[in-house]
Amino acid sequence: MRFTCEASLASKRMAHLFERATSGRSKCRGCARPIQNGELRFGERVPNLFGEGETTLWFHPLCAAYKRPEPVLEVLAGTTGSVPDREGLERAALGSAANKRLQRIDGAERSPSGKANCRSCHLPIPRGSWRIRVVFHEEGRFAPGGYVHFACRKVYFETDEILNQILQFSPDLSGADREELINAFEAGQAGPSNG
Ligand SMILES: [Zn+2]
Ligand SMILES: [Zn+2]
Repeated sequence: MRFTCEASLASKRMAHLFERATSGRSKCRGCARPIQNGELRFGERVPNLFGEGETTLWFHPLCAAYKRPEPVLEVLAGTTGSVPDREGLERAALGSAANKRLQRIDGAERSPSGKANCRSCHLPIPRGSWRIRVVFHEEGRFAPGGYVHFACRKVYFETDEILNQILQFSPDLSGADREELINAFEAGQAGPSNG
């Protein structure tokens, strides 16, 4: 099964695509977890930085929808075939395409030290408190871009609808940690806000 974008078939560039993984060796660029053999994956075609031609960066479909929404939307727009969870992917990609800062969300973790400063308010992030990881997309790679206090997320991301992305890109958290993360996130929502 292979879905490609018909519009870009006409251009020189090879099309981004959805396909079933033909091995279990590819790793998702979005969350760094392996993509299982037979699992649907999204391939973004990018110029090869280290040589001729192009290369394909693989993602879990939802990871791509959050972090690389434009190529995902391009394929969906050019695909008439059925794509599993097409609506969910479209919703995630449209959200991230409309608000570019959402594409930077790379999960959350408890700060292992008090050394990093928040990208939003520039104050230190206390050791042990939750922080959101930020990455920047440059030339087909995601470069570490620092952290944002949980309390600063609304100001920085301009929305509070980011829990799904945070969980999607925090695959290494244990079940208990995920629960604590959700509690911390929701406690922040109920807390005082200056708008
Ligand atoms: Zn992934
Ligand atoms: Zn802050």
